[in-house]
Amino acid sequence: MVQSAIIVGAGIIGAATALQLARTGHRVTVIHGGGADATSAAFGWINASFFLNDDHHQLRAAGIAAWHRAMADVPVSVHWQGCLCWDMDPQQRAATYAQLQAFGYPVEMLTKAEVQMREPALASPPDGALFFPSEGAAASADLAGQFLAAAQDLGARVIRNVSVMGLTTQNGRVTGIATAQGALPADRVILAAGTGTTALARSIGCEIPLVPRPAYILRTTPQDRLLNHILATPEGEIRQESSGQILMPVAVAHQSDSAESLMQTPTAAADHAMTRLKDLCGRLENVDWAEVIRAERPVPADGLPVVGAIADGAYVAVLHSGITLGPIIAELVAKDIAGRLDNTDAAMLAPYRPDRF
Ligand SMILES: Cc1cc2nc3c(=O)[nH]c(=O)nc-3n(C[C@H](O)[C@H](O)[C@H](O)COP(=O)(O)OP(=O)(O)OC[C@H]3O[C@@H](n4cnc5c(N)ncnc54)[C@H](O)[C@@H]3O)c2cc1C
Repeated sequence: MVQSAIIVGAGIIGAATALQLARTGHRVTVIHGGGADATSAAFGWINASFFLNDDHHQLRAAGIAAWHRAMADVPVSVHWQGCLCWDMDPQQRAATYAQLQAFGYPVEMLTKAEVQMREPALASPPDGALFFPSEGAAASADLAGQFLAAAQDLGARVIRNVSVMGLTTQNGRVTGIATAQGALPADRVILAAGTGTTALARSIGCEIPLVPRPAYILRTTPQDRLLNHILATPEGEIRQESSGQILMPVAVAHQSDSAESLMQTPTAAADHAMTRLKDLCGRLENVDWAEVIRAERPVPADGLPVVGAIADGAYVAVLHSGITLGPIIAELVAKDIAGRLDNTDAAMLAPYRPDRF
């Protein structure tokens, strides 16, 4: 019998999961209308060079592979330009190089001259950098819509701008979702609601703790082609989009930034970041920030993804680095729901089950 699934959330996680579930024959409805929208604000870096432990690295490396599978089916814009990274001291750099090599992850140690050759626009190139040639960046603003459209081609339906108030239950089983206008039934509900997930899970007494991680990210006025790679620098993470605009999270070391609140106004924060950007790229002229976006990053309390069943009929997928991990998580969620995880898949998901909280 065809199973119906309601996915709450149409960011990268909900949209990519909708596609995978539609593929496995579910009758999928995606509903979204909460304030959360990390996906369209994201920096878009797809990487496994940042990780919290060995399993997390392996999941992220699998995430890069899943992106290549996804790109065969969905017309997403991902540029695999690689990343130059020098936001660490030389000792850390050597240790990271050794660790990534031991994992079998593509990594090269570049000299100052090699960095300069790859990025001639740098005002003063670092003494050396790591190069991660397999990493890339996705145009985040369009991503969720592209996955959703592919899911719709397979019959998925979308309800926009309707807020979900909670899950409905009967005899201990989740039976659907509640909206202000009434309940919508489904055989299964998947919470992919980003920072909205905690409140929804709490409606059935389940605790999914997230920590507050607000962020600003800026986009500059368009520039002539200047940067060839994603750059992870002590001045911040930057990359140039195909439009010529430079995208830059305002916090330095954005991925590991643990600030719980934003202390500066958006204009002050962006002005400071622009000073760092101009110091970094000597050739920037007549450049200013064109927009600053504030977004809440969905970061579980231990920093790691939360993926799995939370009740009979209810499932959750909430995580940071959702751009990197969206396609792999969507594949694993669809297999998990269908009871088709093989041993490798099961081992990959094991550290991230919700019952660890
Ligand atoms: C500034 C910034 C930079 C980032 N850079 C990167 C990066 O370079 N690489 C990387 O891998 N990750 C990055 N991330 C993290 C990444 O963006 C997120 O992990 C990812 O977008 C989360 O996707 P999501 O689908 O879970 O949530 P979201 O994109 O936040 O989507 C949540 C969805 O749930 C819906 N929703 C919520 N509550 C309700 C409700 N009650 N009823 C109905 N709908 C609801 C919303 O409407 C929305 O559709 C960055 C994040 C930020 C903010």
